[in-house]
Amino acid sequence: METTNKAWQEKGNQVFIGNYARYPVAMVKGEGCRLIDADGREYLDFLAGIAVCSLGHCHPAVTEAIRRQAGELVHVSNLYYTGPQTELAELLVANTFAEKVFMANSGAEANEAAIKLARIYSGEGKYGVISLEGSFHGRTLAAVAATGQPKFHQGFEPLPAGFSHAPFGDLEALEKMIDETTCAILCEPVQGESGVRPLDKEYLQGIRDLCDKHGLLLIFDEVQTGIGRTGSLFAYQQLGVVPDIMTSAKGLGNGLPIGAMMTTAKIAEALVPGTHASTFGGNPVASAAGVATLKIMLEESFFPTVMKKSEYFQAKLRELVEKFPTLAKGVRGNGLMLGMVLTEQGITLGTDIVNRLLAKGFIINFAGAAALRFVPPLIVTIEEIDQLLKALEETLAEVQ
Ligand SMILES: *Cc1c(COP(=O)(O)O)cnc(C)c1O
Repeated sequence: METTNKAWQEKGNQVFIGNYARYPVAMVKGEGCRLIDADGREYLDFLAGIAVCSLGHCHPAVTEAIRRQAGELVHVSNLYYTGPQTELAELLVANTFAEKVFMANSGAEANEAAIKLARIYSGEGKYGVISLEGSFHGRTLAAVAATGQPKFHQGFEPLPAGFSHAPFGDLEALEKMIDETTCAILCEPVQGESGVRPLDKEYLQGIRDLCDKHGLLLIFDEVQTGIGRTGSLFAYQQLGVVPDIMTSAKGLGNGLPIGAMMTTAKIAEALVPGTHASTFGGNPVASAAGVATLKIMLEESFFPTVMKKSEYFQAKLRELVEKFPTLAKGVRGNGLMLGMVLTEQGITLGTDIVNRLLAKGFIINFAGAAALRFVPPLIVTIEEIDQLLKALEETLAEVQ
């Protein structure tokens, strides 16, 4: 059987629904920050499956945990307890504000659970969720309705009722949107999909204050920012603003599908048996991967090392911004969730830059038609960051 990039692309196009604009590349192997495609080409991966494989591809401890659990027990219904799911929930509770956890399979599902919890806890007539313009909360119907980007809504109306979007950065406008039907405000501490756009401390604190003033729940979607991405286990922990409900997914299983919705014991009481469930959520194998992932990240030296690499990477990206002022105008983000914000001219070249880097063996993406996004495995080395920077500099020089 022929198994080149081209062969996989041709076969795939025969059978897949065309909802992805895939690159003409089939990945076959991953190790650390490296990926290898079906033609045997090697790539340095600064996307990590979009902020998923934070310990790198096939981290030995995670792979071993998956292997061991796959030989013990792969699935039982959530009608029963399992060790891995319990251990994962214990780790999340021990290391966050949360006292209770619901396990899902993905970010969108974790957000659906958060929205359902906010509604059932708040009671009849209080169903409104206000999120922010530019946000991204997932592709299921409620999560897409919460997403503050019209391009994701198009063709899918009517969307579920009760969702509205406040202009980014405008607390006054947000407060005006609150009415007697509102139950929650939902936001990402750093908007990922609209181009790595952080919400500053004061803005987040202002949102918290509005929630307290009006008796609303604050939901943080930490699907992308969580699990070490911004240099602490969750982004809120650096910002000093604590939510009532928080969602996690992407990095949680270092590549296995798993999500979590976390909250306080008091709010959690609203979800009684029969109100919400998932067949696969917190599956033993995915949970075992999650436990192995968290145990490594929670080692004392892990986050300080991430922060050192972040500072280095940011400083070097700033030098490139200065060197190419017609293409780039700034660097933003936290930890190893960084964006190089492009100028108007740069934006027209964003896709071209990503494609050229791919051809050179480097993987990044262009997020929200605004910024080049860098979300490498958190175990990336300074040498690997230097390699990426060199290729990026060459590419920016080519296109400017
Ligand atoms: C990726 C993402 C989601 C959706 O996660 P899925 O696992 O694709 O459903 C939701 N919120 C944020 C902030 C994300 O980055």
